[in-house]
Amino acid sequence: MNIEIVTIGDELLLGFTIDTNAAHLARELAALGVRIVRRTTCGDDAQAIARAVQEALERTGAVITTGGLGPTADDMTKPAIASIFGRGMVLDTDILAALQARWLARFGHTLPVSNHQQAMVPEGCTILPNRHGSAPGIWLDDASQRWVAMLPGVPREMRGMFADTIVPRLRERLPVGGPVIRARTLRTANIAESALADKLGELAAGVNGLSLAYLPGNDGVDLRLTSYALPDRETDDALAVAAQLVRNQVGSFIYGEGTDDLAALMIQACVTRGATLAVAESCTGGMLGMRLTAVPGSSRVLQGGTIAYANAVKVRELGVSASDLDTVGAVSEPVARAMASGARLRFGTTIGIGITGIAGPDGGTPEKPVGTVWVAVDLNGEVHAVRAILPGDRSEIRYRAAQLALDRLRRAFDRDQDAVGWTSRG
Ligand code: AMP
Ligand code: MG
Repeated sequence: MNIEIVTIGDELLLGFTIDTNAAHLARELAALGVRIVRRTTCGDDAQAIARAVQEALERTGAVITTGGLGPTADDMTKPAIASIFGRGMVLDTDILAALQARWLARFGHTLPVSNHQQAMVPEGCTILPNRHGSAPGIWLDDASQRWVAMLPGVPREMRGMFADTIVPRLRERLPVGGPVIRARTLRTANIAESALADKLGELAAGVNGLSLAYLPGNDGVDLRLTSYALPDRETDDALAVAAQLVRNQVGSFIYGEGTDDLAALMIQACVTRGATLAVAESCTGGMLGMRLTAVPGSSRVLQGGTIAYANAVKVRELGVSASDLDTVGAVSEPVARAMASGARLRFGTTIGIGITGIAGPDGGTPEKPVGTVWVAVDLNGEVHAVRAILPGDRSEIRYRAAQLALDRLRRAFDRDQDAVGWTSRG
């Protein structure tokens, strides 16, 4: 089944409100096996609403709108859509009575006249009850089975009404054993999109008929496999087979699945090994510590850290060699190593992590351009260091440096020193 979504509201066009309704509907509908073929946003303008919905109806015959159901003058979804179906507006006495009772109970006085509009509905529609707010939704269809469902704009009300009233209606209309849309995401770190595509080779364009999307972000590139065409009972197996094929090609660059957070995975890995952790951060200024402490239960692992921004602090607090700083500079392998070891020794932990880099926008040189980062992990005295030249602006470089450090720890645990993504080994 194909559906179009029309979200309504000037605030959406102006960018003051982010269209979370469309995203929520798209995800929920996909899980049911309904395909969103187009999303449109229009302002609080009766003609614009009528035109957008009319066009969507001509294409798919099935439309969900959100917004514009409230009591104010900018709420004109119902009459605009009624006009497409050639229907007038009529007063629904049940809705009016419910609104009056609600106002009396909640505010102790009678319903303002402006709210009477909320009780006006298109002729011949079905009322969708709103258990989460005052404006009911509307279901309008015609003899040729074309339909529009009008849901409120307030996200909480919209979600509730969708689950209560639209999902059951769609289920009735969907063929039993029909295709569902389901995805599975593999998370990679420390490798560029193009390098991933190279590794994937023939799979780069899709795996066994499933689509493969590359979703680059600050954590790394997520690889999302999506099945659109298979029935429910075949989908999980097909995704599992495809995920294994991708794993075979991409190997150890994959650190997790779904919403896995590398910091949480590393805290768990430390717990499993009975390891404790200390950090020494320069360019990330505490971001690694922040990510680690964001994980519930991290106090069992993380003992502390030093933000060693100035060279003097690197020397005094971590025992970095002043002559190394003079000769090779703060962003260098010996300094990263000394920071990691200094953190481990001073905090008395099994593991120390050091990060030093140039986040920019200034401070780059031809030998050490902006984005140059050295990360070292001292695992019980065995030190692993890597250099990377990270892409992005200052905040992206800083975030990616923390992610790189976590990834370096993961690889140190796995004793997998051979993989080279955008790092080179020290
Ligand atoms: P409305 O039903 O059009 O009066 O919308 C009520 C409120 O819901 C708006 O002020 C927005 O804050 C919010 N809202 C409306 N449409 C959306 C949307 N598509 N995504 C997220 N929030 C929305
Ligand atoms: Mg509105």
